[in-house]
Amino acid sequence: MLIVIVRNSPVSVLHARRKIICSVCTVNKDQPLMIEEGREWDAHQKTRIHKRLVGKASRDLVDKEHRAVRKQSDNSEAEDNVDDMLLFS
Ligand SMILES: [Zn+2]
Repeated sequence: MLIVIVRNSPVSVLHARRKIICSVCTVNKDQPLMIEEGREWDAHQKTRIHKRLVGKASRDLVDKEHRAVRKQSDNSEAEDNVDDMLLFS
């Protein structure tokens, strides 16, 4: 797989960058927490608040518990969590 991001003009940057809604940190669905994919998303996933909410969510949702625990110990790559996120293009 090859991903090419063109950063020659401000317009292309806007098109290249997508925002990801962090469903874990979004409390009010009318005001979703959106984070730019890439570096900002990586940084966001390492924040204390996000990690705490991930832990809280996995406790609250018994249904998702096993999946979440496995994900955390296994692999915390963003790609792994695609099913939990909404992607905007
Ligand atoms: Zn988050």
